[in-house]
Amino acid sequence: MPKFEYAPAPESRAIVSLRESYGLFIDGEFSPGADGRAFKTISPATEEVLAEVTEAGPADVDRAVTAARKAYEHTWSQLPGQERAKYLFRIARIIQEKARELAVLESLDNGKPIRESRDVDIPLVAAHFFYHAGWADKLEYAGYGPAPRALGVAGQVIPWNFPLLMLAWKIAPALACGNTVVLKPAETTPLTALAFAEICQQADLPPGVVNIVTGAGETGRALVTHPGIDKVAFTGSTEVGKEIARACAPSRRKVTLELGGKAANIVFEDAPVDQAVEGIVNGIFFNQGHVCCAGSRLLVQESVYAEVLASLQRRLATLRLGDPLDKNTDVGAINSAAQLAKIRELSEVGEAEGAQRWSPPCELPVKGFWFPPTVFTGVSQAHRIAREEIFGPVLSVLTFRTPAEAVEKANNTPYGLSAGVWTEKGSLILWMASRLRAGVVWANTFNKFDPTSPFGGYKESGYGREGGRHGLEAYLDV
Ligand code: NDP
Repeated sequence: MPKFEYAPAPESRAIVSLRESYGLFIDGEFSPGADGRAFKTISPATEEVLAEVTEAGPADVDRAVTAARKAYEHTWSQLPGQERAKYLFRIARIIQEKARELAVLESLDNGKPIRESRDVDIPLVAAHFFYHAGWADKLEYAGYGPAPRALGVAGQVIPWNFPLLMLAWKIAPALACGNTVVLKPAETTPLTALAFAEICQQADLPPGVVNIVTGAGETGRALVTHPGIDKVAFTGSTEVGKEIARACAPSRRKVTLELGGKAANIVFEDAPVDQAVEGIVNGIFFNQGHVCCAGSRLLVQESVYAEVLASLQRRLATLRLGDPLDKNTDVGAINSAAQLAKIRELSEVGEAEGAQRWSPPCELPVKGFWFPPTVFTGVSQAHRIAREEIFGPVLSVLTFRTPAEAVEKANNTPYGLSAGVWTEKGSLILWMASRLRAGVVWANTFNKFDPTSPFGGYKESGYGREGGRHGLEAYLDV
């Protein structure tokens, strides 16, 4: 099917005013790091340097934790929930006011299509603050006792795939429950967290309630092992999650981990094919597949395999890859050279192990980090591409004959974050959902998020829940 020719429709980046360099946000102000180290953050679509960002060392982390402790003891924990709610509502409204600017900034620094940052990420960020603002003065009704207490200072480390959204998932419930925070954004995507620091200033949030320390893995390690932290919240790779769990094991601090996934998206023969194909595309090609709950394993009932595959390939040929700031773009840039190398390596392993690789005709830009939407067929459960998280736009297709076989294959993974089921039969959805070992099971849809709904995994996908009433528990002394 020929693609329509679309005229370019770029979102203007003039709305974003970037500083040349950024300090650390500690105690309500931007300040330089103790040892003067800095790193550059680039646009993955063009490799253009966007800004220089301070690398926080242990002394800076210590200063941030001290500021958060002071703010917790003298200000934030003393405020009634109603007053905390006012700040959270104010932050939510400023996010809405700055939505366009934040969406452009996120797409610049991360490489994701503006359509996604504008329509998914930023609206969900505001929704998270609104939702948790609502809880701040109603915690006694959350089911955690008549007077639930905050934990103290939370150390939070987030990844690069949904930079501002992951920040919202961490900071909104922490503040609503009366904690103060020190957050480290990912090295490759620090800019929206720094823009959020400016929003905290604009909202007159008391100094020290939110502190942002930028840096790489070492900064994250210094934060999660700091003795002044009462709670650790981490989203990222299973490998680092395990290291954090080990480091925190001897202490009393509470830990929640949201780690990797290898979700099965299961299509039964009675599913509406066109709808399922949209769900498959959304499941694995949304955000270039940089999604922990991505539907990276497609399980199709054998009787409709040929039909679903042909339809999927036709649909993939219409996806537009390119400039993340173009409103027509469906697939943006891979977030970093390192991530691109990992996707390439695992895709080569897939071929070497005997799976068949297919991509639609797709021209890749010369500069930047790019990978075409890719589908592997002839995949067996033993293949590495069926077992390991690729975290890119790569789908592995397997087949099954019976519901029991689908369950067995879907659960045959060390992960357990999400799953999708496509069928017309409500009874089959319920039968499957009760057997799938996954924190979230989507029925006839995929990648749907809402602040009221808890999210989290089983097994190597981590522990604890974020969002909804359940997510409050992680930030309360219960
Ligand atoms: P990491 O787990 O390394 O990064 C997540 C966050 O943890 C980042 O802020 C990172 O900093 C920080 N960090 C790294 N090492 C430590 C440490 N020892 N102690 C504390 N914090 C640390 O993920 P990567 O970015 O390296 O991605 C690797 C793979 O992980 C991906 O290919 C993907 O498979 C998976 N992943 C899963 C995610 C998910 O949502 N489940 C999200 C991101 C990645 P820095 O960015 O500076 O390294």
